[in-house]
Amino acid sequence: MKIAVIGTGYVGLVSGVCFSEIGNEVICVDNNPIKVEMLERGEVPIYEPGLDELIIKNKAAGRLSFTFDINSAVQNSDLVLLAVGTPAQPNGEADLRFIKQAAIDIAQAMNGSKIIATKSTVPVGTNELVSGLISSNSIHSFTVASIPEFLREGSAIYDTLNPNRIVIGSNDSETLQILRELHLPLTSNIITTDLRSAEMIKYASNAFLATKISFINEIANICERVGADVTRVAEGMGYDHRIGSSFLQAGIGYGGSCFPKDTNALIQIADNVDYNFKLLKSVVEVNKEQKYIVIRKLQAELGSLFQKKIAIWGLAFKPNTDDIRDAPAIEIIQELINQGAEIQAYDPVATQNFMNEVNNTSIIWCNSAIEAAEKSDAICLLTEWNEFSEVNLEYLGAIMNQRVIIDGRNLLDPTKMKDNLFNYHSIGRPNSI
Ligand code: NAD
Repeated sequence: MKIAVIGTGYVGLVSGVCFSEIGNEVICVDNNPIKVEMLERGEVPIYEPGLDELIIKNKAAGRLSFTFDINSAVQNSDLVLLAVGTPAQPNGEADLRFIKQAAIDIAQAMNGSKIIATKSTVPVGTNELVSGLISSNSIHSFTVASIPEFLREGSAIYDTLNPNRIVIGSNDSETLQILRELHLPLTSNIITTDLRSAEMIKYASNAFLATKISFINEIANICERVGADVTRVAEGMGYDHRIGSSFLQAGIGYGGSCFPKDTNALIQIADNVDYNFKLLKSVVEVNKEQKYIVIRKLQAELGSLFQKKIAIWGLAFKPNTDDIRDAPAIEIIQELINQGAEIQAYDPVATQNFMNEVNNTSIIWCNSAIEAAEKSDAICLLTEWNEFSEVNLEYLGAIMNQRVIIDGRNLLDPTKMKDNLFNYHSIGRPNSI
């Protein structure tokens, strides 16, 4: 199939590359010329394992190209995928500015019949809005569809090529059939629905996963107070197939570009139809508070944090990505600075993005976990990068000012920490208060 992908971010770029990998002709469009120029030069603007090799391979095979020119991309395609951002507005509602602009741009570029499918996460009713915008700006026939995206950053290529399900929503049966055939090489588990249900499936899925995280975090907080171990509790719960073991890792809460924004957007979607989504409001509230546990544990160990040197291990919202959007590290570091702490921060790939977002000259940016830990009074582990569990503990203890580690992701082994004389605190495990 000939496909144009509008928006070459985490979703658009990975989707475009993977559709080319399974034999389609894909043109990726972005209105950010810097991104397009980078991609044309063979540079990848985001960190995503395996992405660069697939770009090189499919560009060389002539199935994948990048452009700034939406007109030629739309005119040379049968299917147009919308993958632009839908950030949160201050009230939590999804900002549809980019979707609306892209819909108008597509309409004005159209030269014949097209399928316009939205991969961006959009509130229920948005595809109907897109349809309205296109019909008032184009004389050509078209159909719309919703194909919500479920990839996880850090394993986006694997997730896209091996999805556990594909959801396709459209009110047109021929469109459903064409899009079903497009996805069949990836999986036979394809759920076809009406437009509104597809849009809702995405929000309901993310809200449910966020609920699991806040739930296990509250269980962890109780475990600390009653002397239970949340990792054993989660293990014991997870074997029950009705519960499942994923998303039961206690920690400092969820971040990233999706869960915080999508939970707030769903609360707004409900509010707009006079429904008070009490459960989800609590999930969001629990998540907001959970990250401050790191600060409380630090204070319990060090007292005042004024002029204390704190090493931050991990800035990205999760490992294997350089995405720092809504990462817990942003608020935690800000609060530490407010309390007068001196920050030495390290992340394997996300430092540059973090520096662009949190432009604070007092932070010392380090090139390794060890460099960040040098002469520090404590380490706060905020992202569970594997390399943090491989650090030589004897050496680490020797270079720190005080042997204090607050492990916000339960990555490290408490027994090893104890054996190496660290004051080690994690989330919801014994000796964790
Ligand atoms: P992103 O911000 O990384 O990328 C969006 C891209 O769209 C940017 O490069 C931007 O320059 C471009 N763009 C905006 N307006 C444009 C226009 N008119 N024409 C051409 N390009 C335009 O966003 P993302 O993380 O890829 O997310 C995209 C959507 O997918 C969002 O709705 C998000 O909620 C959803 N989603 C994201 C993920 C994820 O893990 N990142 C997962 C599932 C769903």
